[in-house]
Amino acid sequence: MRSLVQDFIHLFYPETCTGCGVTLLDNEQTICVACRVNLPVAYHDLMHNDKMSQLFYARVAIEHCTSLLYYEKVGTVQRLVHALKYQQQEQIGLFLGKWIGSLMCDDERFKDVDMVVGVPVHPKRKRKRGYNQTTQFGKCIAAGLGVRFRESVLTKTRNTIKQAQLNQRQRSDESQSPYQITEAFEPGLHILLVDDVVTTGTTLTLCTRALQQVANTRISIATMGISV
Ligand SMILES: [Zn+2]
Repeated sequence: MRSLVQDFIHLFYPETCTGCGVTLLDNEQTICVACRVNLPVAYHDLMHNDKMSQLFYARVAIEHCTSLLYYEKVGTVQRLVHALKYQQQEQIGLFLGKWIGSLMCDDERFKDVDMVVGVPVHPKRKRKRGYNQTTQFGKCIAAGLGVRFRESVLTKTRNTIKQAQLNQRQRSDESQSPYQITEAFEPGLHILLVDDVVTTGTTLTLCTRALQQVANTRISIATMGISV
């Protein structure tokens, strides 16, 4: 049965598949069954290789990290993330968050997470978009794990140049972090930090460093996608 929120969303968004554009059946949401079964799921694969944790090696201490899907420049995952970020389709965060949340709640690595925090976007961008694309994703994971979600623990204080426009050398310069803690939290927490797509890991590294300014904070990471 659909929730009121979903009914509300469906008033405004045509029920077509974000992957291929076909009209969705009543029992389908966001993407059709054919597109869904073909999504490149990364979650189980990442449990057996350290491709994701390597991004943070020698940069910052991470407890555990995971990602739901493999992200390629072209394909259904790219279309999902693009629609979430640029086409007002906030419900995609809900869809992906429920999915990964159902996997994470059975995963020993995340059993002692205390709180879920989203990577912030600059307030100007959030106003333009109307939401932070990691919020619904983070809320669903928090609900799955039975812990609290906090949206405003971190703030992005500068709207830096888009990472895509930076070269590799500039990307690795983390000395001028735009991320700061703006809401206090207690020491000693295991925080799950969530984001849309991890590529170089720089954003998540900077956010982790900010959060670890509070004593004995342990950080794990979950993202919608990991670039391949
Ligand atoms: Zn489809």
